[in-house]
Amino acid sequence: MAKGLDRHNERKEEVLRFGKDLARRSKSTCELCETSGVKLNIYEVPPVEETPNFDMCIFICDDCIKKIENLFKVKENELRFLGNKVWSEVPLVQAVAVYSLTQVEEKYLWVEGILENVYLEEKAKEFLEKIEL
Ligand SMILES: [Zn+2]
Repeated sequence: MAKGLDRHNERKEEVLRFGKDLARRSKSTCELCETSGVKLNIYEVPPVEETPNFDMCIFICDDCIKKIENLFKVKENELRFLGNKVWSEVPLVQAVAVYSLTQVEEKYLWVEGILENVYLEEKAKEFLEKIEL
């Protein structure tokens, strides 16, 4: 039991070590909604691997975590910011935006227009196939 907990804490520390690089990459603004001056979290995009993987982390605010984990409960207009993020320079951010929008594509007309025009580089495509939010 205690051993599992140790490992859990160890892992948590490993993830926290990504914070500095993520803060730099994001310029300390939420990588999804671009809000600054709020608490940002290191979010490991599922599936979460046993060994923390920097490549699968984004730096986002509490609101965005709630939204991407509850896409169907969020109001339509509260998802529009994802439309900008399909053009993010960070492949994983791009993939998360496309992934999330794809989930609600049938529900909202404007989403189809965005997804039709999106262009994904190889790296973003790889992430997109991997994500299991
Ligand atoms: Zn946000």
